[in-house]
Amino acid sequence: MRPELDAEQARLADEVDRVLDSAPPGTAPLDLFALLGAERLLAVHYPVEFGGRGLSLAHHVAAAERMGARGLPDVVHIVTVQALGGALLAFGSAEQQARWLPPIAAGRLFGSLLLSEPEAGSDAAAIRATANPDGEGWRITGVKTWSVATDRSGVALCSARTRAGLNRYDGISLFLLDLADPAIRMTPLPRALGDPYFEVTVDGAYVGPESLVGPLHRGWSLLPSTISFERAGFECLSRAASWLAAAEEEFRRLPSEERAAGAGDLVRLRARLAGARALAFHTMHTADDLDVDEVLIAFSKLACARAGQAVARWAGEELPPTPALRAAVAEAPELTVSGGPQEQQLDLIAHDFPIGGAVR
Ligand SMILES: Cc1cc2nc3c(=O)[nH]c(=O)nc-3n(C[C@H](O)[C@H](O)[C@H](O)COP(=O)(O)OP(=O)(O)OC[C@H]3O[C@@H](n4cnc5c(N)ncnc54)[C@H](O)[C@@H]3O)c2cc1C
Repeated sequence: MRPELDAEQARLADEVDRVLDSAPPGTAPLDLFALLGAERLLAVHYPVEFGGRGLSLAHHVAAAERMGARGLPDVVHIVTVQALGGALLAFGSAEQQARWLPPIAAGRLFGSLLLSEPEAGSDAAAIRATANPDGEGWRITGVKTWSVATDRSGVALCSARTRAGLNRYDGISLFLLDLADPAIRMTPLPRALGDPYFEVTVDGAYVGPESLVGPLHRGWSLLPSTISFERAGFECLSRAASWLAAAEEEFRRLPSEERAAGAGDLVRLRARLAGARALAFHTMHTADDLDVDEVLIAFSKLACARAGQAVARWAGEELPPTPALRAAVAEAPELTVSGGPQEQQLDLIAHDFPIGGAVR
């Protein structure tokens, strides 16, 4: 049962299943994205002229959730379709939208986010990358890190300082970078498990005026929306759901007395994940077009990330260490750091509560 989805959203999720079922076994994930793109299923919330179906964000997450559940690398989808494509949809010029959104919606172009830096992780205002005026455009220089799926990407959204700034949030601008530019070098940073992160060195890459996304010097205010999908926690949910499935498989192999002792834990974990999922869908159902409530997103991200961590912790403590469960334990700490650490979510929530208003 999928109570969070209305009939049309449930049909979309089924359509995703049908397209994926029609692919020959062993089809590479990036080719599966192209198959979904050809059916306009990859970005149903994009307007029809850009390869979408002109539907709502809630419809999009219903389709995207199925892609994650079927094992497609949701980080590719979240960064490309949701973050980079979403930023262009919300703040891009008509030319940028017409150029970049159709290949993204078709699953033929993938993108990356170049926001974090070695000395400026979660604090995205502490960046040192600069974009200095050069003719009609700018030359960008800096080092970005923790970028994911960068080796599969053709384009990246990069933050850089365009002036010293009236305060630390002023003077940051966002640019589109062509990752094939020889002035850009990427180095994999291996992880204990899974795909590597990338450190990306940008050494005087020239970008023209058509590459500036949103207003000059005022890119900071666009960043929360850019990563808001990631912050809603959907990527935590799909990872948590696959960890729970792996845990349940192991649980069924335990001797009956151990199963009896652990059954209550399993019921609580399932309920916790279902509650987090309901909250994540609620944030999307209540979105005003592309505008999602910041505080609801913070609640949702916290609930999803912590539910995922609870699953991994339980599996790590109570079950034999299979490769899938080891991966869950290794990856779980990331959930409360990526896309904004939990402290930032708590801060947002605290400021919105009446007591926060009273002490401000
Ligand atoms: C899976 C994953 C994918 C990512 N993908 C990308 C990407 O594609 N592009 C990109 O640019 N970046 C990406 N990041 C980077 C991410 O957004 C953060 O910038 C980065 O993880 C922060 O790492 P750090 O080591 O600098 O930690 P820090 O930010 O230094 O955090 C260290 C610790 O301090 C805590 N902390 C942080 N801020 C506060 C605060 N304000 N108050 C209290 N405590 C705080 C954190 O919770 C954490 O425990 C990704 C990260 C992960 C885990």
